[in-house]
Amino acid sequence: MEQQLIQRSGSLIDAAESIVITAHRSPDGDAVGSSLALWHYLKAKSKNAKVILPDGFAEFLAWMPGVDEILLHSDSPNEVEEAIKEADLIFCLDYNDLSRTGDLAPLLEKRVGKCPFILIDHHQHPDTFPEVLISDTSSCSTAQLIYEFIDALGDADMINAQMGECVYTGIVTDSGSFRFPSVTPETHRIAASLIEKGVDHAAIHRRIYDTNLLDRLRLVGYALSEKLIVFPEYHTAYISLSQEELTRFNYRPGDTEGLVNQALSIKGINMACFIREGNNKVKMSFRSKGPFKVNEVAAKHFNGGGHHNAAGGVSDLSLQSVIDKFVAMLPEYQNDLNYDVS
Ligand code: 5GP
Ligand code: MN
Repeated sequence: MEQQLIQRSGSLIDAAESIVITAHRSPDGDAVGSSLALWHYLKAKSKNAKVILPDGFAEFLAWMPGVDEILLHSDSPNEVEEAIKEADLIFCLDYNDLSRTGDLAPLLEKRVGKCPFILIDHHQHPDTFPEVLISDTSSCSTAQLIYEFIDALGDADMINAQMGECVYTGIVTDSGSFRFPSVTPETHRIAASLIEKGVDHAAIHRRIYDTNLLDRLRLVGYALSEKLIVFPEYHTAYISLSQEELTRFNYRPGDTEGLVNQALSIKGINMACFIREGNNKVKMSFRSKGPFKVNEVAAKHFNGGGHHNAAGGVSDLSLQSVIDKFVAMLPEYQNDLNYDVS
């Protein structure tokens, strides 16, 4: 990390009285983990800090130390508005653009130019509004960047088991349990140091991956047996779920997490998409293996973006129209999708 950015961040933290930490909407393990890790650190430095997230997160993250202190805009809009208005330093974690914060975006936009922002993120094309921009698109997770940030500030010895559990959760969930190409020897060194600090890695894996409700497993089973559509000629598979189907299985946030990866796991499939109806919008998750860049597909056709092998988008069209549009664009990519990954 650039020394100048670290020094500037250190001065901004020292000078701040009220710090707000934000992350993207539909916060995932990395968003929640990064936010809480930084929050524990700032609290340990006797700072007044709040984690503010746009909306709720999956039950399998609800054990994380500090979750009860998180303010959700969807639950307490007035309190959130007040805290953002009063903040004299705002962190933006795990997102590259204010539009990724949903209903928080207009509140945050009002503070640009009035209050310093520090953005720490690993998504491509970060926006230029923040005073301090710490962007590393090669990093497997923002949580790893938070560890490196605290380390670069000279406070590695302040990282305790609580902070460590949050960092570890961010790394595990964003790296597919240490399997994506973005995982480096440094990622493993950080994980090793967290275990040395008392993080119970086996318990974290259990809490994240072994706490399914029966409804969720049935939903996944239904999606895989009834809703998985494969186009061998395009090396593509997709799954769609309507609001009615989700309701039938008592859908809760996070229940469809990882479903798109199951579609991608099919031999010979290079791109997978999961299309989900909800909140008058249709949400899409794209994944690929190998050279095919799903962030370009998401940006070009579905108003989205993301990483080379994992991207997303949203649409105001109906579920069926989004599916039709997705299927109709496949011939455009037939050549690009035609390769073997071993
Ligand atoms: P997921 O499929 O897990 O929701 O998202 C995968 C990745 O795609 C995220 O890490 C994020 O980088 C990106 N992403 C998801 N949704 C959107 C979106 O609506 N807009 C943009 N620009 N990126 C998204
Ligand atoms: Mn992330």
